[in-house]
Amino acid sequence: MPQPKAACVIGWPVGHSRSPLIHNYWIKQHGLDAEYRREAVAPEQFKDFIAHLAGRGYVGANVTVPHKEAALALSEPDDRARAVGAANTLWLDGGRLRSTNTDVEGFIGNLDATAPGWDRGLQSALVLGAGGAARAVVFGLLERGIGRIVLVNRTAERAAALRMQFGDRVMLARWSDLDGLMAEAGLLVNTTSLGMAGQPSLAIDLARLPAGAVVSDLVYVPLETALLAAARSRGLRAVDGLGMLLHQAGGGFQHWFGVRPQVTEALRALVEADLISK
Ligand code: NAP
Repeated sequence: MPQPKAACVIGWPVGHSRSPLIHNYWIKQHGLDAEYRREAVAPEQFKDFIAHLAGRGYVGANVTVPHKEAALALSEPDDRARAVGAANTLWLDGGRLRSTNTDVEGFIGNLDATAPGWDRGLQSALVLGAGGAARAVVFGLLERGIGRIVLVNRTAERAAALRMQFGDRVMLARWSDLDGLMAEAGLLVNTTSLGMAGQPSLAIDLARLPAGAVVSDLVYVPLETALLAAARSRGLRAVDGLGMLLHQAGGGFQHWFGVRPQVTEALRALVEADLISK
């Protein structure tokens, strides 16, 4: 009897991942004979696990902390995964194990869906942070043709490495300059973990952002961060991190199961309810 097609999320730990909720929703919605599971795999077992992905019955996988860099090194990455320096989606293509990083399309796709026209006439974006998520955001903004990205990070060396990688459309600035930088920013993106539950708050003043600015926060626990609440209270368009999480998931699903799923209000409500209940 043919086995259902299966994919999984590989992490250590992996219990917190919302990917099974999202992918199993889409599997049911499309009536597929398929499964999506969690796989807790320790770092020292990761290489062996993905070397035998097909033998374990999988057509592909999502990869989360702490395996994303190893996944890049052990697969054939596309330009996005290479630029971000990490892979979060793997799929078998004949005998090849290929990979990408869907945070790029997740970030841009969420902006397109939630704040249509966000890039119209946009001259300059202000990005807070210089970690893995920042690399995906900067890559996506550059690819979309945004002329200037001003990057602010606590650790200057990390920001400098990002500029070195992406070139001189990325400019560096200090936290202490943030107030002045706001007036020029048509888009403000928080890619730091500040504002996340259990982390320090993100203490910045949005008063000087232009009236048409869009504010995006990658943090999605809590769903409505203080940054987003401040943006809304100023009448600015606010784009949350849950939308990015949902929009980054579709690419993997398409590779594994051959269907491009949609991010709908019903899916969002399902994941929101799960986040709120935990
Ligand atoms: P990461 O590589 O560890 O980078 C963390 C970033 O936060 C760095 O820029 C770090 O600055 C900054 N930071 C941390 N604590 C700080 C503090 N106390 N003061 C100032 N800056 C601080 O993590 P990541 O993978 O980029 O993830 C960052 C955030 O994005 C997380 O909240 C993650 O959940 C979220 N995220 C969301 C999605 C989504 O789909 N919505 C996708 C990816 C990531 P230093 O360089 O100075 O340490």
